[in-house]
Amino acid sequence: MNSEDQQRSNRQPGDEQGLTRRRILQVLGTAAAAATLEARLRDRSALAAPTAAPGAPAPVAVPPVALHPVALRAQPFNLTAVRLLDGPFKDAQERDAKYLLSLDPNRMLHNFRVNAGLKPKAAVYGGWESVPTWADIRAHGHTLGHYLTACALMYASTGNDEFKKRCDYIVGDLEECQTAAKTGLINAFPDNTTQIDNLVRRQRATGVPWYTLHKIFAGLRDAHLYCDNTAARTVLVKLSDWAIATTQNMTDAQFEGMLETEHGGMNEVLADVYAITGDAKYLKLAERFSHKLLLEPLSQSRDTLDGLHSNTQIPKVVGFQRLHVLTGEPSYSAAAQFFWKTVVTTRSFATGGNADNEHFFPVTEFDRHIPSAKTMETCCSHNMLRLTRMLFMTDPTAGYADYYERTLYNTILASQDPDTGMMTYFQSTRPGYLKLYCTPVDSFWCCTGTGIENHAKYGDSIYFHGTQDDTDCLYVNLFIASTLNWKEKGLALTQTAKFPEVGTSRLQVTAAGPGDVTLKIRHPGWCAMATVKVNGTMAATSQNPGVYIALKRTWKVGDVIEVDVPMALRMEPLHASTNHAAVIYGPIVLAGALGNKVAPGADLHVNERTIGEPFNDPIEVPVLVGDLAKMAAKIKPTDSPLTFRTDGLGRPAEVTLVPYYRIAHEHYNLYWRIVGA
Ligand SMILES: [Zn+2]
Repeated sequence: MNSEDQQRSNRQPGDEQGLTRRRILQVLGTAAAAATLEARLRDRSALAAPTAAPGAPAPVAVPPVALHPVALRAQPFNLTAVRLLDGPFKDAQERDAKYLLSLDPNRMLHNFRVNAGLKPKAAVYGGWESVPTWADIRAHGHTLGHYLTACALMYASTGNDEFKKRCDYIVGDLEECQTAAKTGLINAFPDNTTQIDNLVRRQRATGVPWYTLHKIFAGLRDAHLYCDNTAARTVLVKLSDWAIATTQNMTDAQFEGMLETEHGGMNEVLADVYAITGDAKYLKLAERFSHKLLLEPLSQSRDTLDGLHSNTQIPKVVGFQRLHVLTGEPSYSAAAQFFWKTVVTTRSFATGGNADNEHFFPVTEFDRHIPSAKTMETCCSHNMLRLTRMLFMTDPTAGYADYYERTLYNTILASQDPDTGMMTYFQSTRPGYLKLYCTPVDSFWCCTGTGIENHAKYGDSIYFHGTQDDTDCLYVNLFIASTLNWKEKGLALTQTAKFPEVGTSRLQVTAAGPGDVTLKIRHPGWCAMATVKVNGTMAATSQNPGVYIALKRTWKVGDVIEVDVPMALRMEPLHASTNHAAVIYGPIVLAGALGNKVAPGADLHVNERTIGEPFNDPIEVPVLVGDLAKMAAKIKPTDSPLTFRTDGLGRPAEVTLVPYYRIAHEHYNLYWRIVGA
């Protein structure tokens, strides 16, 4: 037991009242990072001061369990503290905002109202929301949950009141549905509670109802935290109470059996309900929703992932890490760390995406999966980034930020159609295939749902803050043009970066408070030598890729920090393969632009199950001929930014290489077959 544990074990429950503001922020962490400070304090006060005003509901009891919450070593900033400046991420955010505002909440609410016995106000949307083709997955209503989250994030990211109004409107309607339905459950399933009842009774059930409900839970949480909507909290708590009531007679074995069906991040969101309310009954249910069949081997560093559905597992592991932060239980963290490591180092493609046809495959079989049109489901990347971010908070090492950067550019930024704002499902490694995107109102895939969230929260992982050696520190993880306002420290800065077109970034201090701050600038793993100048004078040189460059001083308004992280080309072999490799420039995966363009809009697609069939005419994909170790030297820059051309490598023709994130409406190639000279 270390000294911190000793201190905790000596603490009585009432000592919670002595929590400092910093400690409160640490305890709430992750999801609640979005909340205003006031909201966090109010939430936490349920734990700290259980006194009720006359007529108010009974105070929430201090949890009787001895919890050892984990201090977050790096904490995220509230999304409202960061604003994107001009660049590809702001462009993506704006496209997403436009799409969100084009959707009609009443259409998403249609089946919620029907199931509550209320008259719908508009016709239901298509795709997964209502069309019989997808009745087998029972995802009806998932979009509304994602939409609540996305609008809440977008409100925090932009300050545009329209997004808060949308959240408030939807929550009001859901509250009406919940009151009318009387049980606490709100849902949009075509057969109302039938499949949930079947699951709970351990009878044959259709679809993934808990997966879908998780999105609604999460949407309510986010409407509460980001939009300060107290009704969302009320509806969420009643929904959570329904979940307790409906599962209370299940034995542990029955519960564990139920978890064989995909259930999203139910453990994570119920842990958040515990953090918000302080009521341990939600923590207990969160732990029941933690799938032991996955948790146990992972916590023992055993990889049993072959054949498992990737996006079923990742959210469970996000929940494990969340539970670790709230309880201190080490097996949760051991599982999350091992899972991350095994997926990132042995199960991922160069972009950071993983799996084929949504499933993990044996780690020696990457070659076999290259021809698939259904590799790299975008949801998997979304959830791996959520996990990465959480792990970084307890262990702020640059390796997590390296993966975050790589995956953010090469899967998330790459997933959005620059013309329509629509989003990918799979990101195919099939040589010569192309990106297909959802349609605006007839697809509503899982990846549409996570997709609308992706582009509303780019500001959440550029900067983090923490304390080291009694000095506050500011992590600069990503070179994304943005402003940061660290109110608590009185420190503000503007980051101007044309990265990745140029391997530099410039930070200018625009407000400074008293006292030292250690600036921790990431020296990326892909960069051999990084340098930092302060006000024109060389301040640090690092030849250790994958670490932070620390600059401690009392910063003044006008100070300029110039970061130089030169990018270089390299060939990255496909995992466990001797004859396939990708071309990478810094963190950016380059794809061969193979032409055969389609008109914007022609690549919008309704049915994700038929991806791989349209636009599948054979396209000639060159091979690269020569010695892999010498190939990077034969790829030359052109006059266009981030555009390269092979020189004496391609057969039968040379190829033009551009960032995969920029590829749209044309056929491309990610992995090159390498043929010895
Ligand atoms: Zn998906």
